Amino acid sequence: MTLPPTDPTDPDPDPDLDLMLAGAEELSEEELAGLAEPADGELAGLAEPADEDLAKLDERLDEELARLGLDLDAACAGTCPEAGHGGPGAAAALFGGGFAEGGVLDGLGPGPALAGFSQGAVDEGLGGLSDDELVGVLRASWRLSAWQAGVELAAVAELDHRRVRAAERPGSSLADDHVAAELAAALVLTGRSADALLGLARDLARLPAVRKALLEGRIDRARAVVFAAELAGLGDIAAAAVAMGFAGIAGSMTTGQLRAAVKAMVLWLDPAAARRRAEQGQGQARVEAWPEGSGNAGLAGRELPAADAVAADKRITAIARALKDAGAPGTLDQLRAAVFVALLAGRDPESLLPTPGPGQADGESEPDRNPAGAGAPGDGPGGSGPTGPAGAAGSGGPGPGGLAALAGTVHLVMPAAAWLGLSDAPGEAAGSGPLDAWACRDLAARLAAGPATRWQVTLTGPDGRAVAHASPRAGPGPPGQPPGGPPGQPAGPGGGRDWLAGPGGGRDWLAGLRFDWLERRTCSHLRQTPRYQPPDRLQNLIRARQRTCSFPGCRRPATRCDLDHTLPYDQGGPTCECNLSPLCRMHHRTKQAGGWNLTQPEPGVLVWATPHGRTYTVTPDPYLA
Ligand SMILES: [Zn+2]
Ligand SMILES: [Zn+2]
Repeated sequence: MTLPPTDPTDPDPDPDLDLMLAGAEELSEEELAGLAEPADGELAGLAEPADEDLAKLDERLDEELARLGLDLDAACAGTCPEAGHGGPGAAAALFGGGFAEGGVLDGLGPGPALAGFSQGAVDEGLGGLSDDELVGVLRASWRLSAWQAGVELAAVAELDHRRVRAAERPGSSLADDHVAAELAAALVLTGRSADALLGLARDLARLPAVRKALLEGRIDRARAVVFAAELAGLGDIAAAAVAMGFAGIAGSMTTGQLRAAVKAMVLWLDPAAARRRAEQGQGQARVEAWPEGSGNAGLAGRELPAADAVAADKRITAIARALKDAGAPGTLDQLRAAVFVALLAGRDPESLLPTPGPGQADGESEPDRNPAGAGAPGDGPGGSGPTGPAGAAGSGGPGPGGLAALAGTVHLVMPAAAWLGLSDAPGEAAGSGPLDAWACRDLAARLAAGPATRWQVTLTGPDGRAVAHASPRAGPGPPGQPPGGPPGQPAGPGGGRDWLAGPGGGRDWLAGLRFDWLERRTCSHLRQTPRYQPPDRLQNLIRARQRTCSFPGCRRPATRCDLDHTLPYDQGGPTCECNLSPLCRMHHRTKQAGGWNLTQPEPGVLVWATPHGRTYTVTPDPYLA
């Protein structure tokens, strides 16, 4: 089966493609792999253009403009000196705002026309553009790079296709090596980079929706890499289907968000395969040490069991927070690193505490917690105080056993059905991303055994958003393991069902929790408080609703953010769900910088106005539905 050439400049390159994708299940795997095979026409123009090619390009440009309902020559008549109609001034005049927000060029797909106007803007001088137009040019260049990445990968795929076809023993690793060697020579790449490029081109060969989105400038290369990596474990048809589902919205997600969303979908589709992959991965378990470019060194455990890694990470945070509260100097990140290495090197983390004496407080790293100038000094809506949900078990300091005995708070989120063991739907440990159901139950079992651990439960609705949250409670966690299961070993499939059974089982445990239901749309101000500092319960609720900083794309966990009054407290902003959201230090400062403005039109929906005039809306990241 062959397809007509895909024309990257055509906004609707191949209407048939969608139809064929809709019927993808009827295609054989080979046919699927052959979808959107790059045609020679797609690659034309890579060499020095001949005059006739330029004439063709001009023709195509005119066609594109005509399609947009614009006649460049007529509009230019008498105003621009003949061929000079590429500039931003002309563009703005012609294209209803040009590169400005909502202007035609701001939404124009990548292709020769957009490239021409983009170059025209540079030629005329970017200095003449408004901030808004400048951001429009920036966004256009991003789409153009994505388009060209699509062309590059199509060219690699075509070369690969030719070599594989000509190979005596197709599929041999020798044939692979030779294609990579050609790429390495042509592009001056290391062998590893050439292998990666070839691997990406091959991965995308079975993800036609991703290739199409790339050529249309809707996603960039980095997002294409996420698709390729996260879908590697799925069969061709399922992988193509997931890619199709996400390709349309991937451009509005950061790579981190996209990775989490696609990973979650893979866990949904084939939890057993995901588990097998995790177990295979554990065969590659290792500790890596490497020199950092700065002259320091890196140390990391790789392919560890997820439950172990989450538990260890929470413990490091708990100890670091306790140290910080006790006056140890440094940021939380620095303290976490110091605790990590102290524990591994066999030093007591208490050795990181400053020796008692005056002037030991670390004023430098003390957060600017009180932007509104109201409330108790130094006791703003801080996420780093002992009231934070990831705080050191709410302790007033290390208890018996010292700092090393701390376990921290684990915020495990699962759909209610999975909590109850009725499904193998994935969950997640807040701050650690999606976990398969086995890893979740493993973690639950491990932590239930540790009396120092505190628990939070978030229930999610069908759209994956948090709908209710039970505040932390100390003591035994959910029974996560049927009796007799060896601790630390994943429960087998279906093992979770036993979880329900018997007195003291999961159902009783869940029934004993007191849930707060989140406000949506119009706030009833039920939990509003006159105080500046939100009570723990409200803090936990906000952090369950929004797991990350509320700045577009920021992945800083809410447990490590301050809760910011969107409308400052001293200007009448209430301490309520409808006026609080987590902001990391950096974006708290961004909010206060000139030209920025933040509003919260409904609980959990944050609208950022920027100095360049555009606004960006942030809604809470859905949990796994
Ligand atoms: Zn309210
Ligand atoms: Zn942030």
